[in-house]
Amino acid sequence: MSPAPLSDRVADWGRTAAGRLVWGRVVPMSVFEDRGTMARTFTYLFGIGATLLVFSLALPHAPDRTLGVMVGVAVGAYAVAAGFLIGFDRLPMWSYRVAPLVGTIMIGLLAYYGGQGAAPAYAFYLFWVVLAASYLFGGALAAAHALLACAVYGFVILIRGDVELAALNWTIASGALLVAAAVMAALGFQVAQLVSQLDAVARTDSLTGLASRRVFEERFSAELERSARTGRALSILLLDLDWFKEFNDRFGHNAGDRALVLLAEALRRAARDSDVVARLGGEEFAVLAPEADEREGLALAERLRAEVSTAFAREPAHLTVSCGVASFPAHGITSGELLHASDRARYAAKEGGRNRSVVFSHEHGPGEEPESVGIEGASPSLASLMSLAEAVDRRKGSPGNSRRVAGYAERLARSLNLPADDVERVRVAALLRDVGEVGVAESILGKAGMLTDDERAELRRHPEIGARIVGAAQIGRVDQWILTHHERPDGDGYPRGLSDHQIPLEGKILAVADAYAAMTAARPYRRPFSSKRALAELQARAGSQFDHEVVEAFLSMQGELEVDGEAAARPAGS
Ligand code: GH3
Ligand code: MG
Ligand code: MG
Repeated sequence: MSPAPLSDRVADWGRTAAGRLVWGRVVPMSVFEDRGTMARTFTYLFGIGATLLVFSLALPHAPDRTLGVMVGVAVGAYAVAAGFLIGFDRLPMWSYRVAPLVGTIMIGLLAYYGGQGAAPAYAFYLFWVVLAASYLFGGALAAAHALLACAVYGFVILIRGDVELAALNWTIASGALLVAAAVMAALGFQVAQLVSQLDAVARTDSLTGLASRRVFEERFSAELERSARTGRALSILLLDLDWFKEFNDRFGHNAGDRALVLLAEALRRAARDSDVVARLGGEEFAVLAPEADEREGLALAERLRAEVSTAFAREPAHLTVSCGVASFPAHGITSGELLHASDRARYAAKEGGRNRSVVFSHEHGPGEEPESVGIEGASPSLASLMSLAEAVDRRKGSPGNSRRVAGYAERLARSLNLPADDVERVRVAALLRDVGEVGVAESILGKAGMLTDDERAELRRHPEIGARIVGAAQIGRVDQWILTHHERPDGDGYPRGLSDHQIPLEGKILAVADAYAAMTAARPYRRPFSSKRALAELQARAGSQFDHEVVEAFLSMQGELEVDGEAAARPAGS
């Protein structure tokens, strides 16, 4: 529970700082105004500049030098370097943009206070200013910094009035600075153009103009993250041309390429604007359909297939496609699981005779058989939800915990005389109560120490997300019970802070079963409570955190609880 020891944190920070000082680990998307690059450049220039200055102070110097100001500038430059190293890419944009001007002013101070004859020497620092500004900003801002550098230098020469051949000195220095700036800016623009061209090449498939595999992967993980957060569905479709090798053999590779282009156009026509259509490679295509559940995913697949048929109707060979569909969260929660599922489904489409679309089902692939009891058979996606609940348990490091909670909840429901159907639904609700945690970051679920306010807020969204996910499966009011399993009779629960009479009895049952299972399980930071102590805890909080009647019922089944004693030795999550 205690924060990490100081030495660890220092070592952590050291590693972070070292990473920030190295060029080229991360390729910025744009060459100009990339915060990390700017911070790194300024850290080096101000840091090295200050060090050079400190050494130069030991050299022979003019008698009228003002040492205090020189030292002050060195300290200031170190401070700026440290500021950029620490703030790195989180500083406001203006601070990066004015940094060269800060450098110019510091150099101006050195030139002025360096004593007689020193100004031209310190003016060499101005090259750093214009080169950095041109490299980092290009354009008008770079020009402004270069002109300011020339102006400040001229101003210093003018007010000191003791620089020999002042006009010659300033003219040549300024001219050289401006040309250096221009050359650097031109180079920067060239690099920027190259990067954007390369980026465009890497993002589109050259034959079909569709998104590349890279874009598909990027969008897939972004959409998946969004779906996990919001609980909204997401489907992925894998398409593969049927008998395409034969087509190539018969009509030649060029005709094959043309067919791929036709196919790509058909897919683009039939997909929605928000869908991502990509060529993964060869004759393999994928469509990412945000917010489409398995039904909508299948409808889209059929629409694509129809469009492809039409496109090839007038061609010498009537090419067709086979399509596999998999959806989040029904068939998987990670991109790997979903890709695997859609691949299995596509394989099934091929096996089934080709020119068809198939939605993944657990019969298609190796994978754990979900337990099938009672109403679980009634809803196709319930089995998938069960696997999801198990995955969430495993992710929390407490495999089997939901089963224990379900056992308690079922017995509670029975002893409170709920109808048999509802007893079964309560059991299902207990198994699924935390599926919303798929939307919670792993770092929060696995955290051993105290959660921050933000992390707690994030964790507290799981009843709502869970209710939304389970609601889609349409199994009675189970979603409402999941929504309320962290509400409390005293109104201090979440997410809604409902009052006693607004919380359904089933939600109250889940709360007690959940709490008892959690208390009697070991946590990384504490030993499990004995069942006696856990029951005393429930009793103490009856009426505030837990419902009286439910706690009473739970106490009265005390004898049955010991059966689960052996399970309690395993660690469990919330
Ligand atoms: P199936 O119905 O089982 O998919 O049969 P298939 O012949 O399409 O299967 P397979 O995956 O074995 O063959 C894929 C063929 O796709 C192999 C290759 O000739 C062709 N192919 C892959 N990429 C390209 C490409 O860029 N251009 C052309 N013209 N053909 C390609
Ligand atoms: Mg193939
Ligand atoms: Mg094929």
